[in-house]
Amino acid sequence: MQEKGTISIHTENIFPIIKKFLYSDNEIFLRELVSNAADATQKVKRLASLGQYNGELGDLRVDVSFDEKAKTITISDKGIGMTAEEIKKYINQIAFSGATEFVEKFKDAKDANEIIGKFGLGFYSAFMVASKVEIQSLSYQEGAEPARWICDGSTEFEIGPGNRTERGTDIILYINEESEEFLSQHKLQQILDKYFKFLPTKLVFGKKTDSVEDGVDKDGKPQYKSVESDNIINYAKPIWTLSPSELNEEDYKIFYSELYPFSEDPLFWIHLNVDYPFNLTGVLYFPKVKTDMDFQRNKIKLYSRQVFITDEVKDIVPEFLMLLHGVIDSPDIPLNVSRSFLQADSNVKKINNYITKKVAEKLAELFKKDREEYEKKWSDIGLFVKYGMISDEKFYEKAKDFTLLTNTDKKNFTLEEYKEKVKANQTDKNGNIVYLYTNDPEKQDAFIQSAQKKGYDVLLMDTPIDGHFVSNIEHKLEKVSLKRVDADVADKLIDKDEKLEHVLSEEQSKKVQEIFEKAINKPAYKVSVEAMNPEDLPVTVTMDEFMRRMKEMAAMGGGG
Ligand code: ADP
Ligand code: MG
Repeated sequence: MQEKGTISIHTENIFPIIKKFLYSDNEIFLRELVSNAADATQKVKRLASLGQYNGELGDLRVDVSFDEKAKTITISDKGIGMTAEEIKKYINQIAFSGATEFVEKFKDAKDANEIIGKFGLGFYSAFMVASKVEIQSLSYQEGAEPARWICDGSTEFEIGPGNRTERGTDIILYINEESEEFLSQHKLQQILDKYFKFLPTKLVFGKKTDSVEDGVDKDGKPQYKSVESDNIINYAKPIWTLSPSELNEEDYKIFYSELYPFSEDPLFWIHLNVDYPFNLTGVLYFPKVKTDMDFQRNKIKLYSRQVFITDEVKDIVPEFLMLLHGVIDSPDIPLNVSRSFLQADSNVKKINNYITKKVAEKLAELFKKDREEYEKKWSDIGLFVKYGMISDEKFYEKAKDFTLLTNTDKKNFTLEEYKEKVKANQTDKNGNIVYLYTNDPEKQDAFIQSAQKKGYDVLLMDTPIDGHFVSNIEHKLEKVSLKRVDADVADKLIDKDEKLEHVLSEEQSKKVQEIFEKAINKPAYKVSVEAMNPEDLPVTVTMDEFMRRMKEMAAMGGGG
């Protein structure tokens, strides 16, 4: 018997509002409907394993198909199915009330982008692309009758006997005019790849043909034949759902190349796995970064129960680790809320801290286990570590033990080791240890050589982050001051109390100094005639460290 009815919801005609919000991201209808199909499949599996369902499970798969002529897309599963009563309950009431709630919450939102794609609108999202949605379903329950439901997104619906003969559900979308782009093999494949590469239920999208070798002809030339097989979207098991003990190095590398085809092998990775106080799994990779800083952010993909959600992981991943690659999967990250809420969410904060802690632990472990290997990677990971130390106090505390300082001889030292190395020889009058550094070894070569001749060590601080890093460690290390090697002559910088013999007489020195000062004619620069012996630099022109930093600051501030 055919029955007509009216769905009772509070907001009349929610459809136009939803459409307005989600128009730019309407592909999520597929994410939602395939997720529902996969959920229904998992449920029937569970019922069987609990002994509450004794029928044949069959080939448990979800199928997506489309018909260009009829302008339909169908999502088909062999899950638990629904009776007519259940459709009324779950679709008419729950799905529609979810949509109502969505509209209530967001009809005044200013920035639709904040919620698009983050709010699982569920079944109702079908109406973003369909003028009419039909459900054909047969419940797993014994003696259940097939049911059919049809609705055009308004509050009117029809329900009656259906035609499904096998357990499960078909969702048939009659695609509306504006959404005909979805009636395309390429487009659907692309969306399915994006969201469901790692879905736990087998997902099939039509057939594919492969050319396979089929013996040789009489001249020994290989012959080929076309073989048709199911076009399966998802991989067997994504590695983040496995235990690290089941995996080897190759598995992690292969997975990386599945995520980012054609990229170089990662440096190393961290397998995340926690179930208290929040649930989170994942694998984070340290990519090989090029020196020219062509970093790409937003390479970490966020999943929820193996369904792709977004690659906007700001707030969840600490800022300084945004350049990492990989996957995070957590059902505990609230996906249905706006950015400001995400920042305030306590789970999100805990996750952020957890990731920082894990990364620090991993680096400490690499450092302890194989220092030589760690030093080889330092030029790649140093950037993350330095950025982390600058931006995160907690990370600094952990990272200070495995941060390396590199000197101009390309030797690496921990902060502690470096202090030990130079403290006897490089102190100033106030008892501060002076670290000399260069940010441009080529230009400052004369100064470096001069300092080295005097037995001083010079640190290499020539990457873009080092300017900030220098100020940061100077601020944090006790009784240490950092001086750029060309800020003054080394003996002035280190400023020991020793008497030094000059080659020139005082009068001669003064004369030379005057000549140079006249020629330069800029008060910020200082001319020193300091030659202590014939091999030394006879004359140096320097800019005071303080003056130089002021200048740099002014340049940064005014640069815009
Ligand atoms: P949610 O998935 O968050 O519960 P939806 O709006 O996506 O919300 O779906 C509402 C309900 O409809 C589901 O909870 C489920 O009970 C039912 N449902 C939707 N799709 C299917 C399906 N393919 N098979 C069985 N039940 C389904
Ligand atoms: Mg759903």
